[in-house]
Amino acid sequence: MAPSTSPTGSLEVLAQSLPTQPRFLASDNTSGICPEALEYMLIANREDDLAYGNDAWTERATNQFRELFETDCDVFFVFNGTAANSLALASLCQSYHSVICHELAHIETDECGGPEFFSNGSKLLNVSGPHGKVTPESIERMVTRRHDIHYPQPRVVSITQATELGTLYSLDELSAIQDTARAHDLKIHMDGARFANACAALDVAPAEMTWKRGVDVLCFSGTKNGTAFGEAILFFDRALARDFEYRCKQAGQLASKMRFIAAPWLGLLESGAWRTNALHANAMAKRLVEGVARLGVNTMFPAEANAVFLELPVRAQQRLRDKGWTFYTFIGEGGVRFVCSWNTTVELIDSLVDDINSVLAVAD
Ligand SMILES: *Cc1c(COP(=O)(O)O)cnc(C)c1O
Repeated sequence: MAPSTSPTGSLEVLAQSLPTQPRFLASDNTSGICPEALEYMLIANREDDLAYGNDAWTERATNQFRELFETDCDVFFVFNGTAANSLALASLCQSYHSVICHELAHIETDECGGPEFFSNGSKLLNVSGPHGKVTPESIERMVTRRHDIHYPQPRVVSITQATELGTLYSLDELSAIQDTARAHDLKIHMDGARFANACAALDVAPAEMTWKRGVDVLCFSGTKNGTAFGEAILFFDRALARDFEYRCKQAGQLASKMRFIAAPWLGLLESGAWRTNALHANAMAKRLVEGVARLGVNTMFPAEANAVFLELPVRAQQRLRDKGWTFYTFIGEGGVRFVCSWNTTVELIDSLVDDINSVLAVAD
């Protein structure tokens, strides 16, 4: 076969060979960059600035986080969520400590051992709990079952808000986890890959959801909210952030042109898009839930943020794929997962509902 003459040419050939145009609801990271983030990125590109986070954009974004969270936290930027979680957890643990998390937590199932690797061996202790949530009882059981020298001492509770199953911890549930964690001298880490969706869905201020509920470190995703890449790590207990910049550098996570992570973040924060993007994504998920409910299809878990899990026959799943729909079936407890984002349209959701209707109507 002759080599293609240009990358564009080969993409066109690929598009023509696909049976139908792909339609993306597999995750909120299939979406592009939202206008607010892109605009700030372009403004940041007009003038040069210092490297390694010593630039004006990083300072402005850091201060904007402090304003939004109503506290004087330490803020760091890394490229992705796996690094954010792994390095944050490593800063909370010695290698002989352990981290209590849900068995379906991203840190357990989707980070290729990153948290264990960067902490030099801190063990993840899995607990189960309904709807992807860690419960105070499950924490209590894990902490109290052993106290001997042979057991990796629990040091951290990690919770994901919104959870991997698209559910939410209520403020009361977070308070209960805080009480249990404090009683056993455990730090609290929050994986906020979809933190914005949680704040928007519960109509709660970021401070209420985090340090006012005992969260020591938050990994707040920009990528899933509308930036190209870049996550913010917020240390509410600033003593825990000691030497964290060295940890980032050693892990290859210190961006030399950090302003291009910070500026899009500032765009999200100053415009309020971090919240309006999340509100929109949540509303689209709700529309999907209501649409499939009219077809008699139930969700597997309460769809409280921007992810929807459906139980669909395997044949129906294949027919949806043939129609171009992209989705994952390996996340959480299985099922067909659709995730909405800042640019998911009403038309896209309605055409998905129509297609689910038609694939279910075909006799098996
Ligand atoms: C997407 C996601 C992350 C971060 O994943 P990266 O691909 O490493 O950026 C972390 N936690 C949860 C729950 C996620 O969904």
